[in-house]
Amino acid sequence: MARVWDFFANEGDYPDFDADGACGRLARALAIPTVDGPSREETDWAAFDELEGHMRSSFPTLFSMAEVEHVDHSLMLTLPGSEPELRPVLLLGHMDVVPVVPGTEADWTWGAFSGHLDEEYVWGRGAIDMTDQLMGNLEALEYLLSHGGRLRRTVIVCMGQDEETTQEGARAMGQELLRRGVRAEFSLDEGGYLVSDLGRLGAPGRHGLMVYLAEKGYADVRLTVRSAGGHSSNPFGGTSLATLARAIARVVENGWPSEMTDLTRQMLEAAGGCTDVDPEVLRADRELFPYVTTTIAPDIITGSSSQANVMPQDMTATINFRLLEGTTCADVLERVRTLVADLPVEVKLIEEVSNDPSHVSVLDGVAREALEDACGRYFREPATGEALPLVPSLLLGASDSRMYECVCDACLRFSPFVADDEEVERGVHGTDERITRRAYAQGIRFLIRVLENACR
Ligand SMILES: [Zn+2]
Repeated sequence: MARVWDFFANEGDYPDFDADGACGRLARALAIPTVDGPSREETDWAAFDELEGHMRSSFPTLFSMAEVEHVDHSLMLTLPGSEPELRPVLLLGHMDVVPVVPGTEADWTWGAFSGHLDEEYVWGRGAIDMTDQLMGNLEALEYLLSHGGRLRRTVIVCMGQDEETTQEGARAMGQELLRRGVRAEFSLDEGGYLVSDLGRLGAPGRHGLMVYLAEKGYADVRLTVRSAGGHSSNPFGGTSLATLARAIARVVENGWPSEMTDLTRQMLEAAGGCTDVDPEVLRADRELFPYVTTTIAPDIITGSSSQANVMPQDMTATINFRLLEGTTCADVLERVRTLVADLPVEVKLIEEVSNDPSHVSVLDGVAREALEDACGRYFREPATGEALPLVPSLLLGASDSRMYECVCDACLRFSPFVADDEEVERGVHGTDERITRRAYAQGIRFLIRVLENACR
């Protein structure tokens, strides 16, 4: 079976880098259950303090040279560069991990928080999302600082407390940086964890690493139909369920139009495929569909009757939209209202959870040079030795990154810590999350080289 490390090159770089030590430190971090939620009050913040203690003892040079601050329960390290006129680099990450799905604890080969380490893998919740990159950032900085001391460019490490739930930590750190007047050169946050097959993008047999320059927006819209219910023997005027079903069908059947965005075109171009494609062609592909449209997913329905001879009373449905660049939550609300205007349906945007799409970041200058150089050095096609391209793309989910748009025009979501496809499918928020030792070490080499290029 082909493995992701078939794409690795130059694993002998930085020969005195202690990869085994780094894996051991990651394993110990994974043993600390920094689960956030379900609410702020129910979060065990002591676990976050324990993780900080582990970081302090693991990276003594970094912690002695950096200014260490707590922003809410998040942790921010500022490592002042010797040339303060250079714009800082932000290394972003989150300390929190998602809980284990109740009832699946015993399905884990090793306990989710056992911090198990074997010949091939480091196991545990957070191994790919994203304690690996969080600890890897610190490993790379510790290595650089203990080999040649202070950097020219300031590095600010922002470690959030609640990316998986409310993102209050990242919001607070972004606002604090804004208050201080920081303008960052670029930021680096979690990304795709994968070496991607570019066949779907029109480049069969080729692979690349995705760098996400933007995130889709998110909107939950609630439809409510009121009814007093009554006996099913006289459903004169229809039931609330029938009306709600019609409203949902209207919204879904009038799908959002397709559009080829500039970012999708950049993605096709970097992958080496044809850019002159009708977006309807991409829409017909299961995986590319969300890149060319705002998606519509009715997910929740409540209030139905528990008996067939009783008509339902008030009913609600929640439809989840993922917004393509250029579409706002207000557009979504207006479109739904228009589509169901002739039906007795109330339409409401759930504002607390909804947000417009992120900005589209620029990838150029220092960031582009440093990332492309490291991609070329550490990731190659096994058959030809050709360097893997960096492919700009759109993140379909969400990350903390958009909280830093206020201080940075280049919020890059990119992970050099890669896993085999099936590991990603199973492991991100799933059972038996793990990362290979080789991938962890390679990711750290990648980051050392990026920081050498961008900050030394
Ligand atoms: Zn994550």
